[in-house]
Amino acid sequence: MKQITAIGFDLFNTLITVEASALDEAVQRLIDSLRSDGVPVDPDRFRELHRDIAVQHVLQARQDGRETHNRFWISQTLQQLGQHVQPEDICIAKAVEAYFSAFLENSAIIPETTAMLQRLKGSYRLGLLSNFTHAPAARSILDNLELTACFDTLLISGELGYRKPHPRVFSALAASLETEPGQILYVGDDPRSDVAGAWQNGLTPVWMTYVRDRNIPQAPGLASLQQEDPEHDCRRISDWKDLLELLDSSD
Ligand SMILES: [Mg+2]
Repeated sequence: MKQITAIGFDLFNTLITVEASALDEAVQRLIDSLRSDGVPVDPDRFRELHRDIAVQHVLQARQDGRETHNRFWISQTLQQLGQHVQPEDICIAKAVEAYFSAFLENSAIIPETTAMLQRLKGSYRLGLLSNFTHAPAARSILDNLELTACFDTLLISGELGYRKPHPRVFSALAASLETEPGQILYVGDDPRSDVAGAWQNGLTPVWMTYVRDRNIPQAPGLASLQQEDPEHDCRRISDWKDLLELLDSSD
């Protein structure tokens, strides 16, 4: 392995997991928030249409690499149900916060993650690079799990405007870590966004299969769409002991 001086990490299903039930709870909170703001919503019709429109937006974002945001598909769903709302309306912003509160309360750290980050912090520059539409929610989750201080830099696609595997986000990570891409190890669970993305942009990918190896149920929407193995040769780790051994062996 090349001389590694910095390590980047994906967030969901790499450092933390979210209960599989969180998505249903999130949509219920979203509906409750809209109704409490006086927006009439038929829960069943809303749920079905919201899911379909969200999938369209997310697939488009995955295709062109530009990040999207929940406010667009929530407002589009309501418009199609006859409501006069705009993505910028305050009721939509409140509904987005209500939605993500369910993820905040149902997130958990993968065992030994904090100890691993603290152990590596003195020896490597550490960065987080997450595909997440609503950056304030990702930052709240990191704060809540006391992970924020473990990193030298936090990059969220919702703030960057682009998402992995787009070259812009990996360039932003390298710039933020003040490290050449060739000296960065990038650890993530998604074969396309993380492994192929890192590889195509000159970083060294490490495929994290903790969740996959243990068949841990994943929250829909956060699960990788691609269940095959990565296209590129890469190191595979199943827990943080494997990562520490990999780094020790490359010294
Ligand atoms: Mg992930």
